[in-house]
Amino acid sequence: MLAYLDHQASTPCDPAVLAAMAPWWSEHCANPSSRGHRPGLTAAAAVERARGQVAAALGAEPGWVVFTSGATEANNLALKGVAEAALERGQPRRTLVSVTTEHRALLDPLRYLERHGFPLRLLPVDGGGLLDPAALEAALTPDVLLVSVMAANNEIGVLQPLAAIARLCRSRGVPLHVDAAQAAGHIPLAMAELGVDLLSLSGHKLYGPKGVGALLVRPGVAVAAQIHGGGQEEGRRAGTVAVPLVVGLGEALERAVADREARAARLGALRDQLRGGLEAIGGISVTGAMAPRLAHNLNVTVAGVDGAALHRLLRRSIAVSSGSACSQGSPSHVLAALGRSRAEAAASIRFGLGRGTTGADIERAIAAVAAAVRELRG
Ligand SMILES: *Cc1c(COP(=O)(O)O)cnc(C)c1O
Repeated sequence: MLAYLDHQASTPCDPAVLAAMAPWWSEHCANPSSRGHRPGLTAAAAVERARGQVAAALGAEPGWVVFTSGATEANNLALKGVAEAALERGQPRRTLVSVTTEHRALLDPLRYLERHGFPLRLLPVDGGGLLDPAALEAALTPDVLLVSVMAANNEIGVLQPLAAIARLCRSRGVPLHVDAAQAAGHIPLAMAELGVDLLSLSGHKLYGPKGVGALLVRPGVAVAAQIHGGGQEEGRRAGTVAVPLVVGLGEALERAVADREARAARLGALRDQLRGGLEAIGGISVTGAMAPRLAHNLNVTVAGVDGAALHRLLRRSIAVSSGSACSQGSPSHVLAALGRSRAEAAASIRFGLGRGTTGADIERAIAAVAAAVRELRG
């Protein structure tokens, strides 16, 4: 049986989440915007319950939650929405500040905005993959409109120093957006307490369904809608709300927070077992700081083997990835930012453990890597 160790590309949907979604596909089919009849009000109540679950899980208020199709859309709404609102208000600030190791769903809209008159300042990371708050402080010139820094990296799992980053942004009066697609439901994350102004998340990274996510927006942060139509979500994102998916997102996030600590403790121990087993093979080194890092992530580089051949052998028995699932084909810009060569990046393995991962899966992964390395190193 194939061991699935790619939970940072996507997680399985929790069966309890599937059950919570079930009645909302056909039994309760009404449009939540149909306020003129009881079925419509029932659907609207389900959406509001989910909004409350999402807000509670992230230390926010229900009114901050805008449901989207996922974190890609949430990032686009945050960045383009803040930029366009600045244009509309004649706000002279234009510069966008972010980090080289962000997800493409953040970097691509930033580059789009750069082509449309919003200068982009991408800050480097240190050898461990972390942003130095002092470098951010130096980049916070008076023309900065928005700062965007991810909570947890999708490839190497490192956690950025969000509290220090948020304090800096606040002191300069610059709003902070956080792509929390890999962090929400996995690490403690309280938006109001941290001082985060905008936060993106995705259902399928936290044991919920694919095709749903949210952008949380603190009051007072101007975000121009990017999808226009029927005025849903308080005019912030038009289109009929995907009731079953939104119900699933709320349920998944509540459940992910409920077992977060126990899950992190169990997966952290399995991850350490994996690390020990891999390091015993020899010529295998961890990429990215080991702490602070998601408990369920390990990214390693295997020295002296061809990356394509390595991954061809591994995929017989384990499902892992060489970089982000979203940038297959091109070498990882994250590993490049940490100084890995093209060949080293290709011979890297991202392990993403999850709820269903067992000790047997870990043993299988260690054995698979050991056998592949033996074969390739001759
Ligand atoms: C997966 C991911 C996204 C994209 O989320 P979708 O919901 O799949 O669009 C964005 N940012 C990060 C950090 C991710 O891991």
